[in-house]
Amino acid sequence: MSKSKPHKTICSYCGVGCGILVNQDSNGKITVEGDSDYPVNKGMLCSKGMNLNYVAQETSDRILYPEMRWSKNHPMQKVSWDEGLDRAAAVFKSIIEKHGPDSVAFYVSGQCLTEEYYLVNKLTKGFLGTNNIDTNSRLCMSSAVVGYKKTIGDDNVPISYEDIELADTFLIAGANPAWCHPILFRRLENHKQKNPNVKIVVVDPRKTQTASIADLHLQINPGTDVVLYNAIARRLFDKKRIDKSYIEKHTTGIQQLRELVYQTSYKDAAKICGVEISDIKKAAQYIGKATGFINMWTMGLNQSVIGVDKNVSLINLSLITGQIGKPGAGPFSLTGQPNAMGGREVGGMANLLAAHRNLLNEQDRIDVANFWGSEPISPKPGLTATEMFDALDSGKLKAIWVICTNPVVSLPDAKKVERALEKANFVVVQDISHNSETTKYADLLLPAAGWIEKEGTMTNSERRISYLPKVIDAPGEALHDAEIIWKFAQKMNFQGFEYESISDVYDEHCALTKGTNIDISGLSHKRLIEEGSFQWPVPHETHPGTPRLFEDHKYETSDKKAHITTPQNILNLSEKVSEELPLILTTGRVRDQWHTRTKTGKVNRLTTHIPSPYLEMNKIDAMERNINDGDIVDIYNKRGIVKVKVKLNFDIKEGVVFLPMHWGKIQGNDFGRANNLTNNLIDPTSKEPDFKFAAVQVSKHKKE
Ligand code: SF4
Repeated sequence: MSKSKPHKTICSYCGVGCGILVNQDSNGKITVEGDSDYPVNKGMLCSKGMNLNYVAQETSDRILYPEMRWSKNHPMQKVSWDEGLDRAAAVFKSIIEKHGPDSVAFYVSGQCLTEEYYLVNKLTKGFLGTNNIDTNSRLCMSSAVVGYKKTIGDDNVPISYEDIELADTFLIAGANPAWCHPILFRRLENHKQKNPNVKIVVVDPRKTQTASIADLHLQINPGTDVVLYNAIARRLFDKKRIDKSYIEKHTTGIQQLRELVYQTSYKDAAKICGVEISDIKKAAQYIGKATGFINMWTMGLNQSVIGVDKNVSLINLSLITGQIGKPGAGPFSLTGQPNAMGGREVGGMANLLAAHRNLLNEQDRIDVANFWGSEPISPKPGLTATEMFDALDSGKLKAIWVICTNPVVSLPDAKKVERALEKANFVVVQDISHNSETTKYADLLLPAAGWIEKEGTMTNSERRISYLPKVIDAPGEALHDAEIIWKFAQKMNFQGFEYESISDVYDEHCALTKGTNIDISGLSHKRLIEEGSFQWPVPHETHPGTPRLFEDHKYETSDKKAHITTPQNILNLSEKVSEELPLILTTGRVRDQWHTRTKTGKVNRLTTHIPSPYLEMNKIDAMERNINDGDIVDIYNKRGIVKVKVKLNFDIKEGVVFLPMHWGKIQGNDFGRANNLTNNLIDPTSKEPDFKFAAVQVSKHKKE
């Protein structure tokens, strides 16, 4: 029998956004392979992507029909979609009537498709009357969003993956793309192998696989990034390796930065960061001599109480060297999730408005409300991710609707999140499987369609929009997330949700971007299917897309110049280590797991690499505590305890310990959950949590 034509789609994991060909044989069996025509991965896939077929076909834990309980003491029961959504509408109406619109919230995900994100944002801001819509992208990208806005005027990632092959110097900060963005890393690795002149500087307290290809590894003390980037900037000033002509014509703020960076000596900077002065100078030398310089970063910078300061101090290095708006150059934040970028395009966060419009600008709010035919949009930013759960805990927020995310494992201070969900009057969880620890808190559980069971679009880290087709039917009564939202809106009697297809939603989103700096009014599902992916903006129907931004050096600021921005805080403001809690805990990803393992945890092949949670610890710290490699240890602070096996090495900086973020409940207990220990501090502007710095103590576990 001849093989049917493969379906072209996109990987549902990280923000690299690799192209995948999905094949289905006559028995319905699914296989996947890398799409060699797709410009991102050119046929390559990492371990997670190449095992997506198992996830797509493993349906044993799927939520198959809506389930509901009438009160907290009642068991969940199967109900019809009408019964479930009628109840949701009645409860939301009653709570809003009694407590006002800010007493309800939606908490969504960077794994939602753009159409879903668009609809939840429209529903919440335009029709429920609250800006309480936020997303787990708050946990990974919000500091970068603010960093871009402060420096280049808007959340516009300037470059493309193709710039990697055009650059000769890279600074990779607070990121381990070898494990977390593997195909992007492979492109970088290949580029370096072919071009031995390419220099790579890695900044990380851990010697990661990414650091293994670095020409220079700056193994800094956690939280000291701003001091490091300022010291590098100082050296660039000293050595006259700044681009004076670019700075004069296209930037503001150079004098303030110069004054700031000269306040700290190299000696002090090296001491604070825990690195050699000569290494700071070497990093500056590489950057200063670069013909094309790219700095890449992700959670190590963003997930910090001074995440915005870390971002601007790093972006400053691109601006003072004029390394932006030309081939092979620019700041490049790597997106953790597959559609974190799409979520930002539709304004799906508590402080954003659709199509990169400004929530604080009255005319922008009027324009969007008129477009939607909605009530006026509130100027008050809504609750962000951690604020929502704080508000549930304090009783200010009464109801929450969680879509495609597992906050019980992924949010900081997890015990507090559990308490908050227990206190909530009404919790809706819309997800694909019972695997998520959050489902047990649901009063209403709604079955959603998963990857390849629904159509829509996503945007990857380089602003590339791609279409994902529906290949197979969703099991049971599961529906497209967008359809669930529009059905709920109809139950609420809101006008403007009478869609007949997902394309209708996409067309509406594209039309709303017209005239903005992310204009994609030239796109449609049809064009994406027929012509392939496009990088925004795509302002008309024959426009080819825009791989690189700011080539004219006109930025999105009021004066059209790039703003070299002086960071507010040089030193870290995280909680302090003490005699009782002397170690710094940092958390992160491992190679073959994704987020809270609701998908990757089902794939045997992916659990062989690292089968269970562990603590990485420096041998010297272990020796002081009489801990041996492989011992079970307790990691603890006042928020909680984690009990796991320890892995000892010299790869992690002394005084720092690392736990993977992925594990939640294991055999009924939560001792592998890193977020038992993380704190609730957030960056004051980006509201991104401080996952990378918690004070803890570690001791050998004593058997009870
Ligand atoms: Fe999927 Fe990211 Fe791996 Fe590509 S690199 S296959 S997008 S997980």
